[in-house]
Amino acid sequence: MEHYIVSARKYRPSTFASVVGQPALTSTLKNAIASDRLAHAYLFCGSRGVGKTSCARIFAKTINCENPGPDGEACNCCNSCNDFNEGRSLNIVELDAASHNGVDDIRAMIEQVQLPPTQGRYRVFIIDEVHMLSNQAFNAFLKTLEEPPSYVIFILATTEKHKVIPTILSRCQIYDFNRITIRDMVDHMSYVAKQEGITADPAALAVIASKADGAMRDALSIFDQVAASSRGNITYQSAIDNLNVLDHAYYKKLIDAFLANDVPQALVIYKQIRDKGFDSQFFVNGLALYIRDIMLAASPHTLPLLEVPDQLKTEMAEIASRCKPEFLYKAMDLCNTTDLNYRQAANKQFLVELMLIKLCQPLSPSQSDSGDGEGQLKPIAAFSSNQAPNQAVTYQQTEAVQATAQTVAEPAARPEPTPAVTGRLRLPTPGLSLRKTAHVETETVTAAEPHEIRSTPYTDDAVINFWHSYMQSHSTAHLLVNIMRNCQPERIDGDRFRVAVENDIQISLVNDNLGNIVTYMRNSLVNDNFSLEVALKDGPSSPKTWTEREVLAHMRRTNPQFDAFVDDFNMTLL
Ligand SMILES: [Zn+2]
Repeated sequence: MEHYIVSARKYRPSTFASVVGQPALTSTLKNAIASDRLAHAYLFCGSRGVGKTSCARIFAKTINCENPGPDGEACNCCNSCNDFNEGRSLNIVELDAASHNGVDDIRAMIEQVQLPPTQGRYRVFIIDEVHMLSNQAFNAFLKTLEEPPSYVIFILATTEKHKVIPTILSRCQIYDFNRITIRDMVDHMSYVAKQEGITADPAALAVIASKADGAMRDALSIFDQVAASSRGNITYQSAIDNLNVLDHAYYKKLIDAFLANDVPQALVIYKQIRDKGFDSQFFVNGLALYIRDIMLAASPHTLPLLEVPDQLKTEMAEIASRCKPEFLYKAMDLCNTTDLNYRQAANKQFLVELMLIKLCQPLSPSQSDSGDGEGQLKPIAAFSSNQAPNQAVTYQQTEAVQATAQTVAEPAARPEPTPAVTGRLRLPTPGLSLRKTAHVETETVTAAEPHEIRSTPYTDDAVINFWHSYMQSHSTAHLLVNIMRNCQPERIDGDRFRVAVENDIQISLVNDNLGNIVTYMRNSLVNDNFSLEVALKDGPSSPKTWTEREVLAHMRRTNPQFDAFVDDFNMTLL
């Protein structure tokens, strides 16, 4: 049976030319080698998976090659190159400071530094994640870094340049690696697919690339996964299914709904997205990015900035042609505000729905067929070129109207060629009037009937019991139930409870369902004062997270028995 090699390893670059996405940097390195102007220490900076270690290895191989080509590349066939390519060269020593950051590790390496090469010209020492060296290790290393033997070259690499101390920075030639663009990653994956006899839709590769977030190595390992599960035929559908990515078709349908002022449709699409198990905040951010891309697609100047396959570009340019810039700015602003308010919102689904309703609004007031009494948002129609200002103003009495009225008093100059789809919104002062409009709307939507606040007493055990019954009645929400099973609410004080979870992802998942959970608990406990917050387990203490000491102090304050217990045993709380 054929031995399976992961693509990231199999297609690891072996020449500078095959390094993906760093052409300027690799050609500088090649020139330095060709003209024999080598520094004794280099610092390679950049996020993970951008080719730092690959470049360091190629560099080490090239400066030791017996027959370097005229292009400055290693020949890849001399003895030295073979040793390098087969991983048995003694002229390359790698130290991973992330796992070996102690003074003993550095001392062992310094001993190695003293040994001259038995063949070839240089010995190259690569220290990965150099910022993680302990102080002691670093001090032991500094002298060697300052005056290494002539045959030694250090290549230090880091993902966090700002953590590298100035004493190191000043002794190194610094190379900053770019994040790899989606286009470069797609091109490289297309190449790999071709070599492997795999068919791959560029749109699917773009999804993989954006998931990899600038790291080629990650892109290739995701590529392997998707290729394996889609049996060598990577389609857009197989990629988004595998990677749990929301199909951009949903965003497109939403934009159509916004432009058509179709609130029910927008809410239905949002429901479909939730039903597919997508987190609402993730959705809001995805929508924001999509709208941002539409904005880029609107102008030939910014179109090249769009990192999507050509087919999608055409589609986005078409959508952009139907959107007013004011609408796009406002839409991004609304998404951003929703994102910022998300964690605090007691009812997250409502927050997102409100955002969608607002997104359906800006284009809603009819411009040409005005006067049909479409309700509260009429003042925006006042900006329309063919409508008398007074007519609109009568619909609203907020101060915004005074502002709009003044603006409208200016003669409306431009005629609107296609009133049906595009230009329903003409906003000389878009921020002002829209904000006021939104304000009015918010009041309307949030105005709730006052009702009696239930305050039946309950025990901690009751809270735990209902916590479990919530899990039972939502057993299909596997992720949520798994998280809930591993934590349970603890009383902070009064009706305030808290659950501590493992990480940010769990926080956002629980937060996403917090509205439902709290409503369930309140109804079950028949107490509307019950509240629940989500915090990180053992995380860095945030304002909401108490230290153990605070918790104990609080327990003493609120629990006389515990206080007496501590006193009885003469315990000291540290
Ligand atoms: Zn060679």
